[in-house]
Amino acid sequence: MLLIQSPAEMTRFVLKQKSRGKTIGFVPTMGFLHEGHLSLFQKAQETSDCVVASVFVNPTQFGDRDDYMHYPQDTERDARLAGEAGVAALFLPKEQDIYPNGTAVTVKVNAGTDVLCGKSRPGHFDGVATVLTKLFHIVRPDRVYFGMKDAQQVAIVENLIKAFHFSIHLFRCPIVREPDGLARSSRNVRLNDEERREAVDLSRGLQQGLHLIQSGERDFEKIIESVTDYYHTHLKLGKIDYVDVLNYPELRRVHKRLSGSFIIAAAVKYKHARLIDNVTGDTENMPLSTGNQS
Ligand code: AMP
Repeated sequence: MLLIQSPAEMTRFVLKQKSRGKTIGFVPTMGFLHEGHLSLFQKAQETSDCVVASVFVNPTQFGDRDDYMHYPQDTERDARLAGEAGVAALFLPKEQDIYPNGTAVTVKVNAGTDVLCGKSRPGHFDGVATVLTKLFHIVRPDRVYFGMKDAQQVAIVENLIKAFHFSIHLFRCPIVREPDGLARSSRNVRLNDEERREAVDLSRGLQQGLHLIQSGERDFEKIIESVTDYYHTHLKLGKIDYVDVLNYPELRRVHKRLSGSFIIAAAVKYKHARLIDNVTGDTENMPLSTGNQS
């Protein structure tokens, strides 16, 4: 596996691959790789000829300086795991490589940012869209792979691809979880033992909301209330940042009552980590449970 720091060298590498008729599959990450990232590499292996991944902790998407400064990093381990997963080239740029003229030019996202993480992290998705625009220009991928763990990001990147006419197909990849249900995240290492034990309730609360929808509930507020109540009962250390139910990928309420594809999403803050999780589904295409109909 090649380790590449320079954007120009990265572009030279992919152009050479393309000249040989190979398709480029790209997985952007912030590193400290885990099973979630590896599942994206796997999908890329299956569906692209040449897999490129990047590790770059992007400063412009962090509002919280502490979160940025303490974002876990282990480049050596990342390189080993990426190599074992069949990544052909790992792009490891420095801040100056990606932002040669600082933030002289950035991308602003206007849709889908007034809810969920966009609401609680102002400017976050502008930073994400800015860095991805730069990375897409450098790596020239035919296909990109994003995890549904960050479902709002997926919806926004789909809009970015459309808005800027990138010839890129985006694969939505399923959330990879720990055996107890906690979504894998680089930030999980910042939980203490007690918080880690409690964090499993984040996904359990979402499952409760999903079961309510499966039993026929279509009132947005009632579903939100049920998940919120679950968290109030079960979370002693974590503080709810948000719980919401929206149509997906629209990220708003399309009708008065829930119908069609939806997301139940939540974020919970612990002392040194903010965790997010979600479940998605479609009211037109879900096994109805035998619970009470509302
Ligand atoms: P990050 O390094 O956190 O920026 O994540 C890089 C990519 O990996 C994003 O597309 C994430 O959605 C994806 N990802 C992170 N955690 C998971 C997970 N548990 N399951 C699936 N994809 C994930």
